[in-house]
Amino acid sequence: MGLTGIQIFKLLPKTNCKECGVPTCLAFAMNLASGKADLDSCPYVSDEAREQLAEASAPPIRPVKIGYGARKVGIGGETVLFRHEKTFYGPPGFAAVLTTDMGDDVIDAKLRKWHTFNYERVGLMLRPELVAIKDVDGNAERFAQVTKKVYDASDFGCILMSDSPNVLKAGVSVSNGKNPLIYAATAGTIDALIELAKEGKCPLALKADSVEALMPLSQKAVSAGLKELVLDTGARSIKQLFEDQVCIRRAALLKQNRDLGFPTITFPCEMAPDLDGETLIASMLVAKYGGVMVLSDIEGENIFPLLLERLNIYTDPQRPMTVTPGIYEINNPGPDSPVMVTTNFSLTYFIVSGEIESSRVPSYLVIVDSEGLSVMTAWAAGKFSGDYVGGFIKKSGIAEKTTHKNVIIPGYAASISGDMEEELPGWKVKVGPREAAHLPKYLKEWKPE
Ligand code: SF4
Repeated sequence: MGLTGIQIFKLLPKTNCKECGVPTCLAFAMNLASGKADLDSCPYVSDEAREQLAEASAPPIRPVKIGYGARKVGIGGETVLFRHEKTFYGPPGFAAVLTTDMGDDVIDAKLRKWHTFNYERVGLMLRPELVAIKDVDGNAERFAQVTKKVYDASDFGCILMSDSPNVLKAGVSVSNGKNPLIYAATAGTIDALIELAKEGKCPLALKADSVEALMPLSQKAVSAGLKELVLDTGARSIKQLFEDQVCIRRAALLKQNRDLGFPTITFPCEMAPDLDGETLIASMLVAKYGGVMVLSDIEGENIFPLLLERLNIYTDPQRPMTVTPGIYEINNPGPDSPVMVTTNFSLTYFIVSGEIESSRVPSYLVIVDSEGLSVMTAWAAGKFSGDYVGGFIKKSGIAEKTTHKNVIIPGYAASISGDMEEELPGWKVKVGPREAAHLPKYLKEWKPE
């Protein structure tokens, strides 16, 4: 259980110096207890108190990192039950299984295939991050070989899966700081695997056959000093798994149950007869509340929708996604190319730029900072007014790139054309189509004046 506001207050300096941004230490303590303040905001906490307070101010679901480099996954860290309350922080990781009885050629081919699944969307790179290496016969040497092969041939993070601490030790020994998840400590292996996780500085998964049975395991691991734990309740039916995920999240957030305050690992690969079925289960878990989803394989048609769903669920609903304002060159434009202007709402940018790209007409797209609002909303909010957009065009430097002085505005913002022309003497402001889908035809017929 986390500390209460009063318990936290007792550990603070009680000088009410206000440096943390609130008037009293008591107010700061209350904010800390409810997760609204950051312990680092008070510079006067003693080291001893800091250790105790760090525990109290940690998010109810602890953050856990798995893997390394560009594919490192940061799961957990959640503070709310529902995304619309604030935001979700730790997007779940997707893993696919390699077993130690697969031939090297099969493993190589799978890794090569999985590596090709990279999708750029709204300026972000979406891809699966993890490989689950499953020991099938207790052969530690082969397990280490496969683990090393994954690290040598790819930048996937690893989940090391075995019932045997010795086999897992062999996998950790070739991981060289690449932060694999050790799966999984049970009541019978927890002591050995706590030691292994401490030695290897790796996150540790705990497995039991119910939510309740996980609690003594996590108590033991935490009292041994481990902070990065991942929970598997053992459920392999959809109903039970769903109930367990919700139960863990609610216990951690609403009851401050620290024993269950960790992200989960789930195994759609053990719950459905084919990859499509696994994908459906994984899609449920993206929303409620899987931490890692292990699939039997990765195919484009399965992973792409999951990655998109994850992107949608794990973006901050209070902050629109934006692209950087400026001039974007599409299809290698030159001095005679058309110039269009629109807002910096990501979706607007990607739809408009996609249509321009598909038209194959070399073009400039000027993106104005509209604080992430779409054209209609930005116009209504006064963030896409004629003088503002005109002023932006003037400063953008587009005039030096073209021989004509024509700019095309979105059809929905037709009413700003007059103000823009006043702001941009010598320029012609043309009203483009309302729908981006009509841009290719418009651009093909466009001529500068
Ligand atoms: Fe109290 Fe620390 Fe805030 Fe000062 S900075 S008021 S000592 S909590």
